[in-house]
Amino acid sequence: VSGAPRLVGDIGEDALLGRIVGRLPPPPEGEVWAGDDAAVLRAVGGDLLFTTDALVEGVDFSWSWCSGGDVGWKAMAVNASDIAAMAGRPRHALATLALPATTPVAVVDAVVDGLVEAADAAGIALVGGDISGARELSLGVALLGSSGPHGVVTRSGNRVGDAICVTGHVGGAAGGLSVLRSGLVPADDVLSGGPAEPAPNPALRRLVARQLRPRARTAEGPLLAALGATSMIDVSDGLLLDLVRLMTAAGHGCRVEPGLVPIDPDLSELSGALVAGGDLVALAVGGGEDFELLFTIDASRVDAARSGLAAHAQVTQIGVVTADGLRFGDEDIERMEGLGWEHLRRR
Ligand SMILES: [Mg+2]
Repeated sequence: VSGAPRLVGDIGEDALLGRIVGRLPPPPEGEVWAGDDAAVLRAVGGDLLFTTDALVEGVDFSWSWCSGGDVGWKAMAVNASDIAAMAGRPRHALATLALPATTPVAVVDAVVDGLVEAADAAGIALVGGDISGARELSLGVALLGSSGPHGVVTRSGNRVGDAICVTGHVGGAAGGLSVLRSGLVPADDVLSGGPAEPAPNPALRRLVARQLRPRARTAEGPLLAALGATSMIDVSDGLLLDLVRLMTAAGHGCRVEPGLVPIDPDLSELSGALVAGGDLVALAVGGGEDFELLFTIDASRVDAARSGLAAHAQVTQIGVVTADGLRFGDEDIERMEGLGWEHLRRR
């Protein structure tokens, strides 16, 4: 009769696990997924790709601006993006959830539903996982993928003279984070369109969605391998920081034109409110979590990449690979302040 939400500590681990397994799709004939001691998967041809990434409360997200469904979605999507950045196809995932006993059961349901929703969107099967107690909620995903017919694309294959290109737009996720942190618009209102009246600005809604519900470029990654991409990385920690990683992996430099960076049009539209007095380009190239693909390709293949991806995403050339020096317009990228998000750097 009480209106208090049921908590994880009230139902215990076995009941919680049963509840989670009940929310997962059933395995195909011949495979074993959640519910046994380990998952059994039919082997596929080609090379295996294997990655992991975790979202931690207070570090990667805050309950003040996102829901359990958002956390589940993003934990799956960021891993799918890493497989896509290798030109692989994501296939099977395990999730590890650590959480306080005071977590409402409904939040766990939402986390699992978010995981499954993002898995479905990327063609991934969530085949099992683990639960543990913790003071804050954290959600780790380990993801297996396989290489496509054109093999994998690593970070180190770029050559001097290659074009540097990026899919889609950058800065939207950082703009969305600004919207959420500003508290101007509660996350639920932004995503549901209510109860606020009139409906929130659609550009605001799209920016928040870019932050909370990023989409991995799972179709584009393998396509870019087929089109001849020589190196690739996903933009998780900011365009310039990930660019430096891509160039230094090959021992090369770059020359990138700030004016060519494809800034998210919604961020541009709202720049007056979000970066008042600030630098729009700096936010777009320093903010992370866009999960676009940053890649290099022979300069003669840029048009082919553009038309090959036309049905999925725009492709913009922003610069060229050079023998040395990391140039962003007139600036030396390594001397630019506050670039990207490095988790363990002391501040
Ligand atoms: Mg990555």
